[in-house]
Amino acid sequence: MSVKVLCDTCGKKAIIGKARRLSVDDVDLFCSCHDPECGLSFKAEFIFSHTLKLGGLATKLASNPLIHDISCLDPHRPYCRCGSVAIIRKTNRVSVSYADVYCVCSDKECGHQFVNKLLYLHTLSPSAKNCSALVSELTKAMSPSHKQALQQELALF
Ligand SMILES: [Zn+2]
Ligand SMILES: [Zn+2]
Repeated sequence: MSVKVLCDTCGKKAIIGKARRLSVDDVDLFCSCHDPECGLSFKAEFIFSHTLKLGGLATKLASNPLIHDISCLDPHRPYCRCGSVAIIRKTNRVSVSYADVYCVCSDKECGHQFVNKLLYLHTLSPSAKNCSALVSELTKAMSPSHKQALQQELALF
């Protein structure tokens, strides 16, 4: 099971296009909204938050302290600090732009249980929905003569 990211603007499922791993438990996700009418693309981060149960992690790290080459780890999956892939047990979505993801290390000797957070960082390209909402808000605030002038200008396009 991989991470599910939601669009911050319309709340629909977002597609993870590219993922860049910064460390064993920190990944940048480049996402875009599944809805072509929305078209928001944004950057999110999937990063270690806190440990629930340490398990055998300390022992494992003591025997094998160096984590490897992070480029060989699948950026679309969560990893435990020991370098083993982690299993997502549940996702607690706090808001569209924030979720706690409960993970457990797949290595039985380690068994580290931890929480990763999935958070919206910033917009890469704005949603079309945002733009039209913005325009309609703007026109609401305009005087009738301004609106007419705008309509004429828009007709030129
Ligand atoms: Zn969207
Ligand atoms: Zn582990």
